Amino acid sequence: MTKPNNKPDFDIIIVGGGMVGMAAALSLSQLNLSIALLESQVAEGNSHPSYDDRTLVVNQASVNFWKNLGIWQKLKQNITPINKVHVSNKGHFGSVVFDKDELNVNALAYIVEAKILGFALKHACEENESITIIAPASFKQMQHKKKSIEVDYTVGESIHTISAKLMLAADGIQSGVRQQLGLETIIKSYQRTAIICNITPEQKHNNCAFERLTDKGPTAILPFVSNRCGFVWTVENAQSQEILDLSDEDFIQKAQQQFGYRLGKFIKAGKRSSYPLYLVTVPKQVKNRVILIGNAAHGMSPVSAQGLNLAVRDVARLFDVLQEIIQKSQDIGADESLNTYQNAINTDQQQTMRYTDDLMSWFKIDEPLIATLRSISLFAMNQSKHLKQELFHRASGYRGQIPQLLRKKA
Ligand SMILES: Cc1cc2nc3c(=O)[nH]c(=O)nc-3n(C[C@H](O)[C@H](O)[C@H](O)COP(=O)(O)OP(=O)(O)OC[C@H]3O[C@@H](n4cnc5c(N)ncnc54)[C@H](O)[C@@H]3O)c2cc1C
Repeated sequence: MTKPNNKPDFDIIIVGGGMVGMAAALSLSQLNLSIALLESQVAEGNSHPSYDDRTLVVNQASVNFWKNLGIWQKLKQNITPINKVHVSNKGHFGSVVFDKDELNVNALAYIVEAKILGFALKHACEENESITIIAPASFKQMQHKKKSIEVDYTVGESIHTISAKLMLAADGIQSGVRQQLGLETIIKSYQRTAIICNITPEQKHNNCAFERLTDKGPTAILPFVSNRCGFVWTVENAQSQEILDLSDEDFIQKAQQQFGYRLGKFIKAGKRSSYPLYLVTVPKQVKNRVILIGNAAHGMSPVSAQGLNLAVRDVARLFDVLQEIIQKSQDIGADESLNTYQNAINTDQQQTMRYTDDLMSWFKIDEPLIATLRSISLFAMNQSKHLKQELFHRASGYRGQIPQLLRKKA
């Protein structure tokens, strides 16, 4: 409830304490804002449903972001640099290699396990005096007031109300907040599923990532600690259950057929999980003192490794927008603030979603002409250092004006 002096309880309420909600809380606490973070799940031991053992590709702009939050420094032993990326076209000629030395960088990107990053964020939020974590607590509804937003949440059977100037909805792909706000949501299914697991190959991965473009969609191998690799295999929906049900031995054999022997024999495969592939677009992500962030605002195929990297850029842009609003002593939850944010994120989101969609749509077309075009493109790309530099720059997360939190500290 809003206090008698009409001052809301917090500056910001964040619904959803997944990686994006926590990243937003830590970033915005640097603006001396008081933040309530509502999360419905609690971690059990070293596991939380929102940060599991998936391997995440972290691009250079995101590395700067995590460094500026003091998080990257805590992950040191658990990050794997990618020194080379090898992209090929299964069954056809043509490949392209991106090499850190050719591009003159320390690494092309890094791999970190989601649970390592998630728990580092959780500990940092717990130690931060500006952040009040309310968990387990489930968001129920909100009421938009002239100068604040009131949020009802439940803890067990009891209902509580808190208020703030602004609310961020980081409550994931099924976002209840988005549904209550009635924001248009466009869902495109690729009729494909990503099967994900860890695989240990016989030979050393030497910090090389592989992407194989196939007629069913891309397959990727990501180098990781202890010579393990993250394996991402795109299959048709109808095939996915059959692959999940295979014995480890049979799965390894099929995975090997799919990927080939560039890393020798696969000797071990971990637990498999599956993710149906969708593109979820929410054209308008702000309304009535609420901003959607992370998966609540956009969903995309994990194959493109863009979801969290994009969400981090959104949060960095939000930081800049709110900093300016605060400097002008304006209301952070007013329509003007929300619209400035929406304008700031539009171009990057549209370009990133288009890239992901192209990757999924183009390569699913099973025609000889398309396969040949793919091969020619890869061949041409491999000959052009300039083109590789351009692509690498984009993949590193630098698009348009670069927000403060994405810049390297001097
Ligand atoms: C297999 C896989 C691989 C991926 N690889 C990459 C990669 O390499 N690089 C990359 O950038 N991205 C990658 N991604 C995407 C990335 O994981 C997501 O973009 C990111 O995790 C989204 O986080 P989020 O916090 O927005 O959502 P979520 O993780 O879904 O978190 C939402 C949170 O909200 C909470 N919540 C929901 N409803 C309520 C409620 N009513 N009240 C309170 N709390 C609530 C949930 O408990 C949850 O903790 C990958 C995704 C997958 C699935």
